[in-house]
Amino acid sequence: MDRFEYRSGNLFVEDVPMADLAARFGTPLYVYSADTLLTHYRKLATAFAPLNPLICYAVKACSNIHLCKLLAKAGSGFDVVSGGELYRALQAGADPAKVVFAGVGKTSPEIREALAAGIGGFNAESISELTQIASLAREMGKTARVALRVNPDVDAKTHAYTTTGKKENKFGVDIADAPAVFEKFRGVGGLSLHAIHLHIGSPVNDVTSYTRSIERGLQLIDALRSAGHAIDTIDIGGGFGAYYKGDEAPPTADYAAAIVPLLKDRKLNVVIEPGRSLVANAGVLLTRVIHLKPGPSKQFVIVDASMNELIRPALYGAYHFIWPVAAGQRVPGSRGPEQPFDGLQKCDVVGPVCESSDFLAKDRMLPSVQQGDLIAVYSAGAYAMAMASQYNSRPRAAEVLVEGASARLIRRRETYADLIAAELEPLPG
Ligand SMILES: *Cc1c(COP(=O)(O)O)cnc(C)c1O
Repeated sequence: MDRFEYRSGNLFVEDVPMADLAARFGTPLYVYSADTLLTHYRKLATAFAPLNPLICYAVKACSNIHLCKLLAKAGSGFDVVSGGELYRALQAGADPAKVVFAGVGKTSPEIREALAAGIGGFNAESISELTQIASLAREMGKTARVALRVNPDVDAKTHAYTTTGKKENKFGVDIADAPAVFEKFRGVGGLSLHAIHLHIGSPVNDVTSYTRSIERGLQLIDALRSAGHAIDTIDIGGGFGAYYKGDEAPPTADYAAAIVPLLKDRKLNVVIEPGRSLVANAGVLLTRVIHLKPGPSKQFVIVDASMNELIRPALYGAYHFIWPVAAGQRVPGSRGPEQPFDGLQKCDVVGPVCESSDFLAKDRMLPSVQQGDLIAVYSAGAYAMAMASQYNSRPRAAEVLVEGASARLIRRRETYADLIAAELEPLPG
């Protein structure tokens, strides 16, 4: 399914050699496979087809407008968390009715923009926000469709920084308090509070965390319906796993097999908000070795990519499979940290940024590489470019989209001039 494959010992993306892309576009470079992205999308759509869900791609995972366009064309809606993401989705040709807007701190201008665009709905996270949405909608003569994000207090069994559905997290309204919130806003003008929203974290590789949270959500819906609230929609959020090591995420079909029966005969519209599971494995970060520096117990492989391009290892201790683009006889059969080859060397793969947390891999057994060699950092489609920064005044890297044998630049490499442009243009005030 993943279209990053070795042919005669050299890494290809679809039908294009990665080395050609490095020569043409330079490094570091984000390389995306359109077919891989669309295959993951279709796989999810097929698995959940019995629920006829609205799939809203989480723009924050990878925001490039050209990827959003591919998904919009495939029928996807969009889950946005800011006015900027709403702008991107609309520019990408999104059907506004298929856009949902989440986030704990939406501002009034952002809410007005979304109301003006006629988005499908807001996922609201607090009483304060519900009050704000209702009042802005009334001012604009509109009725906002809103789901209340509830916090089901379920452990997603993922990294503490990406757990969102436990009591102590800032997200949503405690599920026990939800009925009172629905009661408070019963009949309030400008508001159609018609749905509940759940999103417990990311990645959630434990299917039962989903089923537990959905079961709690359904109990709430039953209670709300008996109290006379017209609930017609459940948004089950995103968080489906991706393949970093190989098999840590359940297949999409396994998530669906557990979730579909729970929701099938509930007379509910279902919204799903996948990000990572669609795009993580559709991207590779291509980087070049700048220097080798032998340390006392391991080799430092200093590459031209850094925490600027991929902050997940620094932020979450995340694992990304890394391997030379020209692998010769050592073509990896899996993406695990243990590879069955002789003569591997213990390495830290690090970037040029002035932080000790600037590493892409630690204590990784790798084939020996030379200065100038190309290295592929896998599963870099999600939360990579989207979290990129210019820290250390390093211009952001370019992005390339491959479709079959063709490759096109979908974001040019930033220049030094880009670094200071917003500081030099005629500034107001
Ligand atoms: C981040 C986020 C998602 C997407 O999560 P993934 O793990 O990328 O699928 C979906 N919904 C909400 C509310 C989010 O915050």
